[in-house]
Amino acid sequence: MLPSAAMEQVDLVPNMFLNMWIDSWKILVYNINTTNIPLTILVVLKLRNGEIHMTKVFFKSINSYNDTETISKAAAELLDKIVKTENISLEKYVPLKVHFGEKGNKTFISSKNYRGIIDYLKTNNIKSAFIETNVLYRGERTTRASHIKLAQDHGFNELPIVIADGDHGEEYELVKINKSHFMQCKIAKEIANQNQMIVLSHFKGHGLAGFGGAIKQLAMGCASRGGKLDQHANSIPKISYLKCKSCNACVNNCPENAIILSSKAKIIKDKCIGCASCIAICPHNAISLNWFGFLFGSFNERLAEYAYAAQKGKNNIYITFALNITRACDCEGHSMKPFVDDLGIFASTNPVAIDKACLDVLDKRKGGKVFSRGRHTLEYAEKIGLGSIKYELIEI
Ligand code: SF4
Ligand code: SF4
Repeated sequence: MLPSAAMEQVDLVPNMFLNMWIDSWKILVYNINTTNIPLTILVVLKLRNGEIHMTKVFFKSINSYNDTETISKAAAELLDKIVKTENISLEKYVPLKVHFGEKGNKTFISSKNYRGIIDYLKTNNIKSAFIETNVLYRGERTTRASHIKLAQDHGFNELPIVIADGDHGEEYELVKINKSHFMQCKIAKEIANQNQMIVLSHFKGHGLAGFGGAIKQLAMGCASRGGKLDQHANSIPKISYLKCKSCNACVNNCPENAIILSSKAKIIKDKCIGCASCIAICPHNAISLNWFGFLFGSFNERLAEYAYAAQKGKNNIYITFALNITRACDCEGHSMKPFVDDLGIFASTNPVAIDKACLDVLDKRKGGKVFSRGRHTLEYAEKIGLGSIKYELIEI
């Protein structure tokens, strides 16, 4: 890799079409965006046999989400392992990027599982906070004040709570990335200004993204409200007239009151923010992605680009809890049942590799692809330089 300082100064952009392997030669082509002169440089690296460095993903198997003490200890052990093995220097202040769980949700990762990590940071004289952003839809997590109250009600009391994008999502920095969908991204100010975070993710399904893990935690989780809207554009679902049984569940659940019921349910396009919550809530499977809009809008690619912006210039650590694995995400304000057994906890410095490892371990356990949608996110994330899809799984 080129030195990160150089990348910051001249904004080196890996050219995804030209980077390639030829035998053991790695050809890296970078576009250099300076203010006046567009340049392209070529870097050729020769790697000896066996010298290809794969990202390490550490894994600790956990059998039950109810065993909080084991989970908390295992998470701290993984943090210590990755800090030492990858020679990571921790900043004096390292916030924990978390998800507090929507009101009514019971399967988000509760803060007591983070106690081992919090103690580890305290022992090493590192200050921390729970850091999160406001959501797009109307609810308890829409504004800073009600968001903090909900977090405290959900037991996040061990550290200060920072809502990174202000009272209503108005505080953000434009992070320049120069990618296909976005030239710059609206990243919550308090997150954009950090050098390092420990990104704590819950691996589970997601109506729109297919699955959620570290990339989604970076992309949606670190964007301001406007940034979330950028990613959701063109993502309005559709309702099957034939399948709809007029039960009203989607109408009651929609956070934007964007669904009305006459003889059948109907989405008001001008009000819909594309959160996909209704897809998960419909008991008759009548609501689905509008595939045309979804593919045309390249939601997964936009997600990857926002994740790229959220981690740009940071020396992050990613710890993912593949426990309480539900079909939909923690923004669902109702209780859900996990649909597969708990896997354990993963840790890495690479958000792409850790997501891929979660998917692979789950698939291996179940003997087939469990979350079949959304995998393009990983391929695209690798192409734009967010991280590598290849990894070495190290069980501890
Ligand atoms: S939840 Fe499904 S079945 Fe019920 S009204 Fe909405 S679309 Fe129709
Ligand atoms: S995606 Fe569904 S739940 Fe979300 S705002 Fe649109 S209609 Fe409402």
